[in-house]
Amino acid sequence: MDGLAHVVFGLLFFGDRSLLLWWLFFSAAPDLPDVLLIPRFVRNLLSRYGFRNPAREGRRITRVWKPLVRATHSVPVFLTVFFLVWFINGTPFLPLFAWLAHLGIDIFTHSRKYHPVEFLWPFSSVSFDGWAWSRPAMLVGTYVALLVLLLYELL
Ligand SMILES: [Zn+2]
Repeated sequence: MDGLAHVVFGLLFFGDRSLLLWWLFFSAAPDLPDVLLIPRFVRNLLSRYGFRNPAREGRRITRVWKPLVRATHSVPVFLTVFFLVWFINGTPFLPLFAWLAHLGIDIFTHSRKYHPVEFLWPFSSVSFDGWAWSRPAMLVGTYVALLVLLLYELL
């Protein structure tokens, strides 16, 4: 699912207002490695107009990006961080559950053809062949659901 939808879902379902910014941050945080792809996206766009060939640099970014995405979309990594924070703080930090919710959504909204979520990494590369969030029907369904939920929240 795209970052905006994750943040809005996080806001709707985990809206402890005193920790709102943490809930929003952990709703989108697993996708932060995608920031690394922005320069490649721009270069790809520019290469269409003959400015340069981004293929070599693209592979270098992917070598960094892919392990980061695996780690941020891993349930074992989440559990490690969750219990480590609990151990350090002496109490669980509930906004971290927005990260787990992100994983729950992504596991079922990524297909094996489009960035499968290896949610048991590093122990397994198993993934679920879900309905890709980038399909037009899924995008429309996501934003209609968000609109309905927002209206319900506001009314
Ligand atoms: Zn994600």
